[in-house]
Amino acid sequence: MHFPGNFRKIRVMEESLYLTRLAALRARWHPDQDALLVAGAENRYYLSGFTARETMLTESCGMLLITRDRAFLLTDFRYLEWARQEAPELEVLVYTQSLGATLAGLLQDAQIRTLGFESSFLTYQQYLRLSQAVAATGLEAAWQPVEGMVEELREVKTAAEVAAIRRALALTEAVLLEVARELAPGQTEKQVAWEIERRLRERGAEDMAFTPIVAGGPNSACPHHHPGDYCLQTGEPVIIDMGARVAGYCADLTRTFVIGPPDEQFRKIYTLVRQAQEQAEKGLHAGLDSQAGDALARGVIAAGGYGEAFGHSLGHGVGLAVHEAPSLSPIKDRATTLKAGSIVTVEPGIYLTGWGGVRLEDMALLHDDRAEVLTKVGFYEW
Ligand code: ZN
Ligand code: ZN
Repeated sequence: MHFPGNFRKIRVMEESLYLTRLAALRARWHPDQDALLVAGAENRYYLSGFTARETMLTESCGMLLITRDRAFLLTDFRYLEWARQEAPELEVLVYTQSLGATLAGLLQDAQIRTLGFESSFLTYQQYLRLSQAVAATGLEAAWQPVEGMVEELREVKTAAEVAAIRRALALTEAVLLEVARELAPGQTEKQVAWEIERRLRERGAEDMAFTPIVAGGPNSACPHHHPGDYCLQTGEPVIIDMGARVAGYCADLTRTFVIGPPDEQFRKIYTLVRQAQEQAEKGLHAGLDSQAGDALARGVIAAGGYGEAFGHSLGHGVGLAVHEAPSLSPIKDRATTLKAGSIVTVEPGIYLTGWGGVRLEDMALLHDDRAEVLTKVGFYEW
């Protein structure tokens, strides 16, 4: 069978995930906005397929310039081949002089008057350099800060995204169970953290979703403790919070363990945290206000007398970033309506200075009428 020369190209264009996402993005633009400059690594990947990630805030692997009818990936020589391979649907341009000069030329050509930029990701220094380079060409473009526009699209996951997260989580759970079985007095937090990282990578994780948290004894009172030389001891709580990254997507899982038999205090705190988590998992669903979601668990912990000891949000969205929209926060200003297709963590905790803490973290996929708990690792039962 003979097809006209451009048949395949048209088919690919129609089916492209990235062109669909770009169209969805443009449909959300304010009518005054002519273009968007995308600087955030996850947003850049989501819209282009380009997987490079910055290792430092002060270095950029490139930015996207999305106009009403074109999409550019602007990068430097180091990333040229990589970008071409992964983002064939975008026009890949290498800047030789500076990003500012290349950007100015494109804005001029497209007659861009109002340029949206990601205020959460463009550093102030980058903003100054770029806006000054554009102004130097005589182009009067208004720079408009934009927040959360691509993130809102990312909030609702496709079936393929959910599948990637399930794979990342399954891998994370398998390694957590192995490491937990081998916990022993005298191991340092750092040793356990390294075992986690080694095994996740050996089993196919492309990266850690975040540096694993291993917090023993009193250190477990610090929710984001960095693993150190502390030796685990019998009878003390050990918080392990970890996640693999698979196909770009993150898992996030926390369990709290105790080596040897738990004492009365541990049982009491653990049981209360688990009750709070179960309450939230039963009550969460799409359409619910996120602050009301947080309150499901917070109410249980407060009623148990530990309200002050639960000082962080109940949970957060997980996807390309380990922390993303929505936030299950107790703060009213951050409240949003939860959406079907979001994946959120449910992670209540109680932290007592000098003693330690208990945090239990599951991941759940939100449906219209319920939350589907994706995490399968169980809990202590007494
Ligand atoms: Zn976590
Ligand atoms: Zn988390």
